[in-house]
Amino acid sequence: MFSSLRIPILWMSALFALAAGTLVSEGASYTVKSGDTLYSIATKNKLSVSGLMKANGITDPRKLRVGQRLTLSSSGSSTRSSSSSSASRVSSVGKGKWVVIDPGHGGRDQGATRSGVRESYLNLRIATKLGEQLRQRGYSVAMTRRSDVFVSLSRRAAIGNQYRNAVFVSIHFNVTRETWVRGVETYYAGSQGRSLAVAIQREMVNRLKVVNRGVRSARFTVLMETKCPAVLVECGFISNSSERNRCASSSYQSMVAIAIAEGITRYGRN
Ligand SMILES: [Zn+2]
Repeated sequence: MFSSLRIPILWMSALFALAAGTLVSEGASYTVKSGDTLYSIATKNKLSVSGLMKANGITDPRKLRVGQRLTLSSSGSSTRSSSSSSASRVSSVGKGKWVVIDPGHGGRDQGATRSGVRESYLNLRIATKLGEQLRQRGYSVAMTRRSDVFVSLSRRAAIGNQYRNAVFVSIHFNVTRETWVRGVETYYAGSQGRSLAVAIQREMVNRLKVVNRGVRSARFTVLMETKCPAVLVECGFISNSSERNRCASSSYQSMVAIAIAEGITRYGRN
């Protein structure tokens, strides 16, 4: 849904390839679209896969991204082309797309609290780190709160509805009386939110090695009142002592933020 069609560029390079007969001259480029492989791009442009990799400084052919610009050349491996390709890889993924991050609770509503660890604080920490990760991936980021203030649930959804072409991600932590319970779960309300929830949950479980409590449907206000794809991520149980200690550490919070950002990016490519 987030991938954009770059038909003019594609056609120009295809025509250029025909005109040139065999090799496309240096300077021609191709923007990767969904479904492309290095092999298909190389074949289409009468180039070798290894030449294409060399010209673009690609070391892992599986790490092709939608929106990535490739220099179509089988000769030479200028550092200029490889560095410009990695720069566009960083900035073009989420270009023009908004992510509205909603750190749950705040102000007079501190959410769950266990052994001095406050959910509202953790939510804001993850949200801030997530915002940094998403900006690096080319997304525009809005937040429903940036400090320890109270914001009503309807107001949060209304903030989300101010942005077109957005996704909404609410950040929370869980508690339960059963202190052995731990793990991560992601909630959605509509079908649009479901695939976003699946993508985020998958990255969380794979990257953080946490208990997978699955993707669940729920009629939460922030999910029901938002018009865009919306999810609510429960990033862990602070009622479980080992999970609480882990969630309170800055390095783990960064890993959570990266996992959610990767989930959003993967969702955007489909
Ligand atoms: Zn909460």
